[in-house]
Amino acid sequence: MSSPDDPGPCSRRLSPEQRVALLEVRHRIDATDQPREFLQELVTLIGEIVGAKVGVAGKRDGAWVVAAESSSEPPIAVHRNGGPHPFDRMSATPGHRVELCRTSDRDWTLISLASSPSAPVVLIIDGDWTPCALVFRDLARSFSLEAREEGSSTPALHAITQHLTRALADTSGLAAVGEVVLHHVVQAVPSGMASLAVAASDGELSIVATHGYPRALVEHLRIPAGSGVIGAVHVSRIPLLVPDVAATPGLDRRRSRYRTGSFAAVPIVAGAESLGVVSLTDRLNPGPYTADDLAALAVLLAPAALALGRERVWREAQAYAQAAVIDPVSGLFNRRYFQARLDEELQRGIRQLTSVALLMVDLDGFKSINDRFGHVAGDLVIRDISEILRRSVRIFDVCTRFGGEEFAVMMPGGTVESAGTIAERIRQRVEAYQRSESDLADLRVTASIGVAVSPPGMTARELIERADRALYHAKKQGKNRVSTAAGDGTVLPN
Ligand code: GH3
Ligand code: MG
Ligand code: MG
Repeated sequence: MSSPDDPGPCSRRLSPEQRVALLEVRHRIDATDQPREFLQELVTLIGEIVGAKVGVAGKRDGAWVVAAESSSEPPIAVHRNGGPHPFDRMSATPGHRVELCRTSDRDWTLISLASSPSAPVVLIIDGDWTPCALVFRDLARSFSLEAREEGSSTPALHAITQHLTRALADTSGLAAVGEVVLHHVVQAVPSGMASLAVAASDGELSIVATHGYPRALVEHLRIPAGSGVIGAVHVSRIPLLVPDVAATPGLDRRRSRYRTGSFAAVPIVAGAESLGVVSLTDRLNPGPYTADDLAALAVLLAPAALALGRERVWREAQAYAQAAVIDPVSGLFNRRYFQARLDEELQRGIRQLTSVALLMVDLDGFKSINDRFGHVAGDLVIRDISEILRRSVRIFDVCTRFGGEEFAVMMPGGTVESAGTIAERIRQRVEAYQRSESDLADLRVTASIGVAVSPPGMTARELIERADRALYHAKKQGKNRVSTAAGDGTVLPN
């Protein structure tokens, strides 16, 4: 056994460049949640720097095992029959010890990375490097596996990521996938509020899931690519970390409904493309969001990207199939598609015990619009109102042209409240609609809307009848209003 002051004849020394490189190892290894990959990178890098075989051994259940090696030769002997293992000395005292271990045929330098008696970890380098013990001790300290285990949420993150991956395998539909992803995101990076925005085929983003506030507040928003924080992160594909909104030019704290000043927005990237953006605010742990939070999200969002990619492929495949079911004037689905899809959604409602809401929308006094402005203008209005409908609903709602100037909106999972809110939004937007052409300056349109919600088990016919009855009621009450069918089928008073 040599000491650092008394190098043996075969001892090895480090050049100044090697010393610097060793102390930088810590920063050159990627943050990863996989301990084995982490250790493999560690031994490969150190092996390259010192030009000798490097291994890492740990003691599990009373036996030493080699967890990673930079090369297979020369072998590291960890199996011993009887007697204390020489590696055990390394865990006998705390701190980062550097010792020489002589076996019958060679010298090994042992450096303790973790000295916990129950789970010690030892770095092993071929040859006697004890003259450079101080450098290796600093290396071990910079690395301190104990600090890594205690101080970071790596094992927890790993568990959350695995759980998310399993949950996503059983989940389909954009809304459900969004909720599952967000649920795990706020476990990994505890936050009071979070949202997940997903890009639609037209490039605009829609918020499909929220945490900490009602989705109804934002689900009708369309965020153009490049616009605002979410649109900007989507286009740049670079995460955004704002420690303090108040101190960041261009972001106005007063307009924000967030309580704390820090937020983070992270793209969900698949290949060269961003599929969506996760935004977080109201960090529940003390202090602003950190680079570690972003690193954790990057790990967690890898399976999310796969699931969102799968959803997009499915939506696009559907879009091709839908070409035959699109009404060419309005660009909305036609009645045939509506019927098939409504049956499907009601069946899903039975399986998942969810409701389906239906809005029947009929334009008021449309005959007189035709009479006054002509049929061409009437067609234009139908097209414009279709666009208003599309932009007023959630991304997973289905807008159809039911016939003439009558539309139906199917809302999977919709309730009397959420459907009522969206119906009122549509009513107001139709009322505010105007054309800029001078000969159409006086053209005004209003709509009457009937709302009905199916409890699980209701037939499509019953649901349509209820919504129709509510619509008829709205017309009779004076038009330009929303009426809602009650649970028993009668129409609630306006
Ligand atoms: P209300 O619904 O308020 O009772 O009155 P309304 O005048 O809208 O009556 P109703 O819904 O019964 O009739 C719809 C009219 O809308 C009939 C038709 O002239 C017109 N219309 C239906 N489809 C189209 C279309 O594609 N283009 C145009 N220009 N007009 C249409
Ligand atoms: Mg009408
Ligand atoms: Mg009509």
